[in-house]
Amino acid sequence: MKQLIKNFTIDETELFFASIGEKAYRARQLYAWMYGKNVATFDEMSNYSKSLRALLKQKCVVSPLICEDRQTSQIDGTEKFLFKTYDGHYIESVLLKNDFNDTGRLTICISSQIGCQMGCTFCHTARIPFIRNLETAEILDQINQVRRLSGLSNNNIVFMGMGEPFMNYNNVIKAATIMNYTFGFHLSVRKITISTCGILPRIEQFIEEEHLFNLAVSLNDTSSEKRSVSMPINRKYPLEKLADLFNKKMPKAHNRLTLEYVLRKDNISKDDAKRLKKLFKYSRIKLNLIPLNCSTDNTARPSDEEIESFIKELEILNIPITVRKSLGSDIDGACGQLSGKKYSDSL
Ligand code: SAH
Repeated sequence: MKQLIKNFTIDETELFFASIGEKAYRARQLYAWMYGKNVATFDEMSNYSKSLRALLKQKCVVSPLICEDRQTSQIDGTEKFLFKTYDGHYIESVLLKNDFNDTGRLTICISSQIGCQMGCTFCHTARIPFIRNLETAEILDQINQVRRLSGLSNNNIVFMGMGEPFMNYNNVIKAATIMNYTFGFHLSVRKITISTCGILPRIEQFIEEEHLFNLAVSLNDTSSEKRSVSMPINRKYPLEKLADLFNKKMPKAHNRLTLEYVLRKDNISKDDAKRLKKLFKYSRIKLNLIPLNCSTDNTARPSDEEIESFIKELEILNIPITVRKSLGSDIDGACGQLSGKKYSDSL
C-alpha cells in the first residue's frame, strides 16, 4: 500500500526524503505545497523534477479522502462534506460560517474516528458502528479539502465531529501539532479546540505534556447518576474525578477550559447550577450551552424561556457563558447529528 504522506511530521518527512536519496529541504517544500498552497497532487509541485514527482506518486498519496457529497444549509449556510476513506468508509466534516463563540470567524468541525465507541444516548454518531481511528493524514486532509472546496481558509478548527478525539490521542495530537507548525497550516494554538467526553488518563497526559490547544469537555450532566445513563463513560471516569483533576491542575491553554453542556429538559434545574458551582469551585472554566438537537422520547429540548431561566441560575458561577447556535440542523450537520452516511434517514 502507498504511504499517506500527511501522516509524517516535518522530521519524519525529512527522513522519508533521505530514504529516497533526496535532501532535507525537500520536506519543507512539500509542506509548503500541501498545507500552504493546498495542492492535492504531486503533479502540481512544479519545483520537483519530473522523475521525483513520478517516484513520489508511485510511493505516496497526498490527499487520501474523496469528497462524495456536499450539502448546504438553506437556513444558515452551514456546509457538510461527506468523505470516503481509502478503505471505503465514510466520515463527515462541517464548515460553520459563524462559530459557537460568535466571533464571526469560520470554523471547520472535523472528525477523529469512523464511528464512535462512547455510546452517549443523545448522540447520532453513537448509533453507527465503530470502525477505526482516523490516521493523522485523514484528520488533516479534511481541512485541506474543506478549504479547497469552499475557497475559504480563515478557520478555527474544532475536533467536534464524529468520534472521541482522546480515544485516538496520538493521531489527534500529531495532527493538531502539524496544523500549528509554521510550515503546516500555521494555525495558532488558540484556534484549535479538542473536545473530549472525559477520558481521564488522556486528559492527565494532555495536561502533563503541556499542550496549548484549547480543551473542551462534554459534561452534559451535574449528577453522576444521570451522567452514567446519558454518557456511559461516566461509569469509568466519573465527573467528580474530572472536576477534581481540573480543580488541582488546569491545561496550559491561554483560553479557559470549556465545559460543553447539552441542554435537556431534565438537566437545567436550580440544583444543577448549584452542583456545577460546587464541582468546579477552583477551575478556570467557561460554559458552552448546546440546546439538544434531535429530541427523542426520553430527552427533549427545553424551550427558549427554560434556557433563559437556567442561564439566570448559572449566574452564581460568575463565569462566561455562551449558548451555541444550532447550525446546519436541516442537513443533519449540527452537534450530535453526524453519521457519515449518505442516507442517515434510514438509521
Ligand atoms: N466525543 C467528543 C467530541 C464530540 S463533540 C466529545 O464528546 O466531546 C460533539 C458535541 O456535541 C459534544 O459536546 C456532545 O455532547 C454534543 N452533542 C452530542 N449529541 C448532541 C445532540 N443531540 N444535541 C446537541 N449536542 C450534542
